[in-house]
Amino acid sequence: MAYETPPDDAFLADFRSLSTIGATAGGGVDRQAATPVDGQSRTWFRGLMEGHGFDVHYDEVGNQFALLQLVPGAPYLVLGSHLDSQPLGGRFDGAYGVLAGAHAALRLAGRLAAEGRTPALNIAVANWFNEEGCRFKPSMMGSSVFTGKLPAEQALQTTDPHGVTVQQALEDIGTHGDFTLDIACYAEIHIEQGRSLEDAGLTIGLVESTWGANKYEFVVHGEQAHTGATVIADRHDALLGASSLVVAAREIAEQHSTDDHMVITSCGEFTVFPNSPVVVASQVKLLVDVRSTDADVLAAADAELHRRIADIEQRADVRIERGAEHIWDAKAYDQAGMELAAASADELGLSHGTVRTLAGHDSTNLKDIVPTIMLFVPSVEGISHNERELTSDEDMLDGVRMLTEVAGRVLAGEFVR
Ligand SMILES: [Zn+2]
Repeated sequence: MAYETPPDDAFLADFRSLSTIGATAGGGVDRQAATPVDGQSRTWFRGLMEGHGFDVHYDEVGNQFALLQLVPGAPYLVLGSHLDSQPLGGRFDGAYGVLAGAHAALRLAGRLAAEGRTPALNIAVANWFNEEGCRFKPSMMGSSVFTGKLPAEQALQTTDPHGVTVQQALEDIGTHGDFTLDIACYAEIHIEQGRSLEDAGLTIGLVESTWGANKYEFVVHGEQAHTGATVIADRHDALLGASSLVVAAREIAEQHSTDDHMVITSCGEFTVFPNSPVVVASQVKLLVDVRSTDADVLAAADAELHRRIADIEQRADVRIERGAEHIWDAKAYDQAGMELAAASADELGLSHGTVRTLAGHDSTNLKDIVPTIMLFVPSVEGISHNERELTSDEDMLDGVRMLTEVAGRVLAGEFVR
């Protein structure tokens, strides 16, 4: 378990090594879920952890767990995040959290062995499957199945745009298993992906709540026609309907945001059929999401979106079908966990403040079944889901120290309900 190199150097060397897997020319990574490159990052992680005496297992939906049993029969403190990425994603999103969890676990294991102490819990590091949701929807798929929010069978039968199922893709990279994990607590560290920590000059964010989010898949149905020969009055232009929906979403964010509660809306994917220069579109598939910190503000914005859809159907003479939806409420993290984290940061002399997360994370699911602590480190200029995503070495190392301190306290039994 001993380090041959100083722990900070070992972390940075491992981070650089991990960042070469699926590296893109622009300095990011492309490791979409269950692709061969995602398989490579899983194999790399397995090698790292097995090299330090951990056992590595996969569950029914490809979640990867590296386990170190310290107390036979005790449940696990799980530290985790995700190694998959967006296409042309940054190298920090998720990967930082998995590797920080791994190094925190290694440091604690070494410390416990040196001191001859027996902790209250065992320790595991998780790489949750398909957090990003770009190849297979929805996002946070692995942790949703793990926490019972999404049936495993439904996740496994989900297909990518080429018709490949999750099950097939996981089998192709050899990471489909049947392991089950007895979890007691969860902690995750992630890059902020926003700029509040940087703006405030803080090193550690203590996440106090998630934003509520309503994510919808819409299909706008029109009718294919000749772009030159069809008079305007006869058109059922799916692209006009879909575009109107994009504009409506932006207007709703502007109109419904209050000083206390922001509304954030976006359209992240847009697929036009048949997407030909001389054809009025017959169908557009798009995703729209509406987010807010306040449930009432979110409900009002959501109601407005659905009212506007009726208007758009009339104006563009199209039919808008609402497909799958993925909804989570604005929910607080465990107060005792935030206090434990604040005390840990104070102990280490790290500046900290509370933050809310705009993005979903695996901890969003985990916190609903076990005591959970969520931490952030700063993102330079808040840039994320972008190859230019950046967190400084210093902030990454402070984050590893922080997670180690937090996990050490949890292992000692400070945070078990
Ligand atoms: Zn992430």
